Amino acid sequence: MVELGLVDTFKALYRSPHTRRTTERLLALTRELSTDQGQILAAWAIELLDAEGENERDSVIDAVILPLACAVPNSLTHVYIDLIERRVLYPSVLFHNATIDSRKLLARRLREGIDDEYELRDTVQAFAWVDDSVVHSAFSHWQQTPPSWATRLWLPLQSYPVAAGWYVTGDGMRHPLYHQTCYHLAPTASVEGVPSTSVSEPVGVITLHEGHCPWCDLRLVTLFDLHGDTPKLAFLDLGIDRLCIAMCVRCTGYTTIYMDIDTQGDSRWSRYNVRPDYLGPTGEYRLPTEQKLMLGPPRRTPFEAHRYITDRGISQIGGYPTWEQDARFPTCPICRRLMPFIGQLHWTDIEEFGAGTTYAYYCRDCRIAATNYESS
Ligand SMILES: [Zn+2]
Ligand SMILES: [Zn+2]
Repeated sequence: MVELGLVDTFKALYRSPHTRRTTERLLALTRELSTDQGQILAAWAIELLDAEGENERDSVIDAVILPLACAVPNSLTHVYIDLIERRVLYPSVLFHNATIDSRKLLARRLREGIDDEYELRDTVQAFAWVDDSVVHSAFSHWQQTPPSWATRLWLPLQSYPVAAGWYVTGDGMRHPLYHQTCYHLAPTASVEGVPSTSVSEPVGVITLHEGHCPWCDLRLVTLFDLHGDTPKLAFLDLGIDRLCIAMCVRCTGYTTIYMDIDTQGDSRWSRYNVRPDYLGPTGEYRLPTEQKLMLGPPRRTPFEAHRYITDRGISQIGGYPTWEQDARFPTCPICRRLMPFIGQLHWTDIEEFGAGTTYAYYCRDCRIAATNYESS
């Protein structure tokens, strides 16, 4: 028996006038749904798509289907085929974890040929998001023998799996670029019973580093001080007990900044950094004075901070990055592979007038960390 209270509340709220407030309440409700309740609403969303026509389509996707995909695990399991048949392929993250049947249908569409360029792009991207062994083999095979439609894509074919958070090497091996586990970085004051400056926290967020930026002489800050030896952060599989990822508050805004990580897990400015021509206006950069975020509750999926469903509270450790634009996993300067994502800081979470997001990455094999930034 599925408890229908939340489902009915959701439906009623969806039918009320759409304001920012109702959108936020719908998302908050979605986060409370069980998988069963999510599946009922997913089926209802398909009915809405059929009944309401084109005008309502975006609203159903943005307010119901995408939040379900990002916040309620397995809620779309029974509707993937319905979505494909109705050409609902975007945002393609909908298809993370999609069923074998739906992957077969996407593959068949590609084989049979897709005339529309947008639909072709979205189908390839959805197929990449399914991310199972058949998909890995397909992209590995296409590296050697590109399909005829690959020339009609606007981006290189191998950028599609990267946007879905993985890549394959020539031997068919899949390499993940993000973690399935994800913890919200919550305001320190909101986590009850824990002092705000506890040194035993699994992660420190923005603390002063002893070094200075060799380009602009600003004091470096440690974006994340990760205690990899604590159970909550074991999923990061850092290979060292502690990892401090330092950055320059100013220069990380203009290029990817690399840090060599020593055996103690501390950051040293890397010789691989390449100074860009422009490093912004020579103004004041305020450095943070106290820790304001701490490891909060786990998220239910790696995608809860997707940019189309929320712009609040998106700072996190683990999970999939909240890109503002295209995927920007940096290349490790030593092994030349893409670097897996570790976590992100959304500056509005710690500064009233903060903007944009700083992303952190780590190549475990080469012990190199990186940070880059996107403005909002
Ligand atoms: Zn600097
Ligand atoms: Zn590397």
